[in-house]
Amino acid sequence: MASRTLVLTLNQQQLELIDKTVENGGAGDRLAVIYRALKEYGEPAREAVSDPDGQTQIAGDRQIERALLREHVMEPGTGRAVEVRKGQILRIEQIEGPQCVDFNCFNLHDYKEAMHVGRIRAVHGLRPTAGDFVWSAPPRERAMMYFLADTVGCNDVLFARCSAYLYESAYGFASHTNCHDIQAEAQREYGLTNDDVHDSLNFFMCTGVDGDRAVIKRQHSGVGDYVELLALMDVLAVPNVCGNDVGRTSNFSLKPVKLSVLQASENDLARVPKLRTYPTNLRTPADFRQPNIKADRPLKRDPDYVPQFTNVPLRTISIEVPLDEEAHTALKQSGLTLREYYGEDEAAMLRDIVLSWWEARYTNSLPGTAA
Ligand SMILES: [Zn+2]
Repeated sequence: MASRTLVLTLNQQQLELIDKTVENGGAGDRLAVIYRALKEYGEPAREAVSDPDGQTQIAGDRQIERALLREHVMEPGTGRAVEVRKGQILRIEQIEGPQCVDFNCFNLHDYKEAMHVGRIRAVHGLRPTAGDFVWSAPPRERAMMYFLADTVGCNDVLFARCSAYLYESAYGFASHTNCHDIQAEAQREYGLTNDDVHDSLNFFMCTGVDGDRAVIKRQHSGVGDYVELLALMDVLAVPNVCGNDVGRTSNFSLKPVKLSVLQASENDLARVPKLRTYPTNLRTPADFRQPNIKADRPLKRDPDYVPQFTNVPLRTISIEVPLDEEAHTALKQSGLTLREYYGEDEAAMLRDIVLSWWEARYTNSLPGTAA
């Protein structure tokens, strides 16, 4: 006997998740998925299963040894746009002491595909390091580079690049070395504009979180410390010596930094984990409804525009879920921690439980699929 019946409202996308679980043998039907979620909610989930298919497998047939291709020393106040071809390594090395290096990265053949700090942070956490990837932004979201080595393990994805505005507003400088302008000047060598500078990944920058504020700490890298990034596609990498000599970022002084481009060895290439690819949603300009880069600056309305948003309209589907005494007790117990969000709305609690259970149980934890 059902002690009560809840009406669970889902949209077609949420229902798709439940139906896929049935298709994949997770439970016999929709209601069985819901009852299973209620039973297992809060239990530790099993390990996610990976099924990589080798997007990043770039080792060829021939044996390749590491070889130095180019070197450059970035002096304080400067940066450099560096072509790093697929299978080459960019090493960024301290030569005089602790110096923060802001970094950006573009697809060499399509600059509109650029590094996305938000995704790096979401996938790899607040201190990306060896073993992590440099990702590009949606709609590509591809692994652009792989962190092969990092002798310090202090890299920042919380802070924005410093700028002329920052130094004027905070310190009163009419003119000051700053990462935005240095990045812009370095990448001008490749025809990019001041507006093409993106959020930076900041190597050798120690940051943390204090309450809900990000904070900058002094850093402890030393002479000879380095990070190495292996290009997984042809990229234009843009590192620069952070211009901040009035803050803790580089311990209150600016130093030169060495850049080296190396040919990766077979061993280097073999260290890159394989990633899944998601071809359905890997969209290039050929797939865009607006494939042309806008050439003028004012924004004007297109009178012929017709919106075509994904999966819209979202429909509401109601499922009656009879709950016996045991299931209802499970719902109430789980609901103790959910009541602050849903009050007495048990159907909303049940929807949270089912989708939270699904996330914990089935979301793939591979970096290519997180966030
Ligand atoms: Zn800076």
